[in-house]
Amino acid sequence: MRVRYSYLKQQFSNCPDLWSKLKKFVKTGDFTLGKPLVEFERKFAKLIGSKYAVGVNSGTDAIKLSLKTLNIKPGDEIITAANTFVATVGAIVELGAKPVFVDCDNTFCMNTDLVERKISKKTKAIVPVHFTGYMANMVKLKKISKKYKIPIIEDACQSILGSINNKNAGTWSEFGAFSLHPLKNINVWSDGGIITTNNTKFYKHLKLLRNHGLIDRDTVKISGYNSRLDTLQAVVGNWLLPKAKFIANKRISNAKYYDHKFSKVKEITIPPRPKNYKIVFHLYVLFAKKRDKLLKYCHSKGIEAKIHYPKPMYLQEALKNLKHKKGDFPVTDSHTKKIITFPCDQHLSLKEMNYVVKTVKEFYKKHNY
Ligand SMILES: *Cc1c(COP(=O)(O)O)cnc(C)c1O
Repeated sequence: MRVRYSYLKQQFSNCPDLWSKLKKFVKTGDFTLGKPLVEFERKFAKLIGSKYAVGVNSGTDAIKLSLKTLNIKPGDEIITAANTFVATVGAIVELGAKPVFVDCDNTFCMNTDLVERKISKKTKAIVPVHFTGYMANMVKLKKISKKYKIPIIEDACQSILGSINNKNAGTWSEFGAFSLHPLKNINVWSDGGIITTNNTKFYKHLKLLRNHGLIDRDTVKISGYNSRLDTLQAVVGNWLLPKAKFIANKRISNAKYYDHKFSKVKEITIPPRPKNYKIVFHLYVLFAKKRDKLLKYCHSKGIEAKIHYPKPMYLQEALKNLKHKKGDFPVTDSHTKKIITFPCDQHLSLKEMNYVVKTVKEFYKKHNY
C-alpha cells in the first residue's frame, strides 16, 4: 500500500464549479487587484476574525511586508523561533535585520519563558511561529509585548484556524501572516499569502506596500514592492474558503484517531495536547524512538513520512555569520533526532491511517530484541 504525502491531485481533481468560475473570471480581464481579490480579503478577515486582510504574493512576503510596516531597518533585532521554516528567517534577513532565536518546547513553538532574556535595546519585533498547527503561547507573549512595547507578527502560515481559548491565530497581535502555498492547509494553485490586522493605519500601509507604493496610477507615495496576490488565485481561494473549517476539523479528527492508536505504542510519545488549544495539524508530528530506522522502514513500506526539519535554520550555512553552534538550542536539536511527520490531511482514508499505525507497530515489534 502507498500512503502519499501530497493530496493536491485529489483536492482539485473534481471541481467543475471552480472551473466555471475561472472561465467567467478570465473573460473579465480583471487580473490585478480585481474584484475576486477584494472578496477573498473580506471573507478571509471574517473567517479569521480580524478587521482587515491584505493579499500578498507569498507567506514570506506576508511576514516581510508586516516587518516593513513596522519600519524594521538593518541592524534591528527580531526575536523568532529556532526551529522554524526558512521563510520566517528569510523575511527578517531580507530587510537587513538580525534573527535572534528562541528555543522551542514540545509544542514545537517558541518557549515563551526564554523570550525576555533575548530582548535588547535593538529588539524591534517578536515573530512567534505557530508551528505545525499549534499556536505559540500568545497569552504570555502579549504580556511581554505590552511590558516592553515590542510589537508582534504572528507567523500563522501553518496554523490557519488554530486557536487558543477560541481566539484564532493571526488575531492576537499587530499582524498575522498566512501562506496560501500549495502545501498549506488552505492552498491556491501557486504562491500566495495574506496578512490580517485590526489596525487601520497598518492596513492602509500594507495596501500601498504591496503595490509599489502607488496611491493612484501616477502617484508613488512610498517605496514599495510588487507583491499582489493574483486575482486568479483569489478565485481559487474563494472556492476553497467555505471548506476551511471542514479541512481543519477533518485534520483534527484524523489526529485524534492517530493519537488514540499511537498512545498504545510505548516507543512513541505524543506531544502535549492542551485542552484550550485548537491544534489544526498542518503537520502531524510525533516523537519516536529509533526514528531514523523507523523513517526508513516507513519509506520501504510505501508511507511518505517526513522530518520537519532535519537541520535547524541556525545551523544552516546561510546563517553562518550569526556564529551559532550545535547545542545552542537544545530542545530544537533534540527534536531533529526524534520527530517524525505522518500524513494527516483531509483526503486521508481510515484504511491509510490504519496502515500507518500497523506499519509503525510492526517496525517496533521487529526491533524489539
Ligand atoms: C510556508 C511557511 C512560510 C512561508 O510561506 P510561503 O508562502 O511559502 O512564502 C513561512 N513560515 C512558515 C512557518 C511556513 O511554514
